[in-house]
Amino acid sequence: MARIVQKFGGTSVKDIDRIRNAAKRVKREVDAGNEVVVVVSAMAGTTNQLVEWTQTMSPLHDTREYDTIVASGEQVTAGLMALALQDIGVDARSWLGWQIPIRTDDVHGKARIERIETGELGRRLAAGQVAVVAGFQGLGADGRITTLGRGGSDTSAVALATELKADRCDIFTDVDGIYTSDPRIVAKARKLDRIAFEEMLEMASQGARVLETRSVAMAMNNRVRLQVLSSFVDVPGTLVTDEEEIVEHRVVSGIAYSRDEAKITVEHVADRPGVAAALFGPLADSAINVDMIVQNVSADGATTDMTFTVGRADLDRALAVLEEQRKTLGFKALKPDSNVVKISVIGAGMRSHAGVAQLMFKTLADRGINIQVISTSEIKVSVLIAADYTELALRALHTAYGLDEAG
Ligand code: ADP
Ligand code: ASP
Ligand code: MG
Repeated sequence: MARIVQKFGGTSVKDIDRIRNAAKRVKREVDAGNEVVVVVSAMAGTTNQLVEWTQTMSPLHDTREYDTIVASGEQVTAGLMALALQDIGVDARSWLGWQIPIRTDDVHGKARIERIETGELGRRLAAGQVAVVAGFQGLGADGRITTLGRGGSDTSAVALATELKADRCDIFTDVDGIYTSDPRIVAKARKLDRIAFEEMLEMASQGARVLETRSVAMAMNNRVRLQVLSSFVDVPGTLVTDEEEIVEHRVVSGIAYSRDEAKITVEHVADRPGVAAALFGPLADSAINVDMIVQNVSADGATTDMTFTVGRADLDRALAVLEEQRKTLGFKALKPDSNVVKISVIGAGMRSHAGVAQLMFKTLADRGINIQVISTSEIKVSVLIAADYTELALRALHTAYGLDEAG
């Protein structure tokens, strides 16, 4: 007997038929004698609709009310999944975040799970009842509903798996595993049998939304056996695991992209000590994350241009914050550009291999693609390019690093 967490994403519960289909998957585990916790997302498209309504009602909304609204999608699917299970003879009960409770901090819209009180859940599981938990939501320290940030149901699943000491955490989605690149863009992308936690962490944080970043970090820290598989076809998926357990050694394991970036160039800012601090301090104070940064060579020795990226959703706020500092900083102009994409090549093998970045630069240069900003870490190289070249760049790099599916 094993204890298993099964998480179904939006497309896997997008309508009544899909929910019934997912329920059959759950029943299989129950029939095999396992204890099962099911975590559900909202029906595909629902959360987007709820966010849109919130923004239309109030562009600069109160985030406590945002959470009240967007958390509702998962309530519906949790109830429907419990009914679908009962219909096929499985004892099941739905649970909302506050009922368990899944306790979070009160950073509404992007709350962090602090603690899960699993006493009652554990007793029900032991008694043979399936617990269907609404993903993406929790109970804030302020006593109100919180949500965990987009894609957060993955984190709900891994947090429950950790707390309940589950033997496995299966993430069911609309692709049959983790690929070398997004299979919807790179037709030759190859499914990986295994991927190292650290690589998956970089892939996720660089935009491969197949797993949410926090869920990967949590699984890595708590040694959760995490798997991604299809809810439609019955084939083995991809296991996220320790680096030592990976037999096939590759220098580059995957290529990710993110369209959620925007670039800002601050022109003619004084080239003197303290300028970077004066520029980025106010952005940090406004909780705006800056990702890639380049400071251009000063042409006249007195002023320079500074280029950096922020999340696209933060662009307007970032410009407003910088505009307020115009006098102090004395820059000449602010040039925003959201027609950009960040492409990242990722691989643990980079630690011991030189030339990975060079191959990236050359491949893009050969296609006439201009690199605007570069950033690196121990196991990744990222570049910012014009968004129009996304597909071309991904496919060319995929081939250049020898990742294409044979035949
Ligand atoms: P869910 O609703 O099930 O959580 P998501 O849309 O969040 O599903 O994540 C699955 C999607 O992630 C896939 O449809 C695929 O387009 C995308 N994706 C991006 N990069 C990858 C990758 N390297 N491997 C697999 N899927 C990827
Ligand atoms: N429904 C939420 C979202 O779309 C959470 C999730 O699906 O993981 O972001
Ligand atoms: Mg997801």
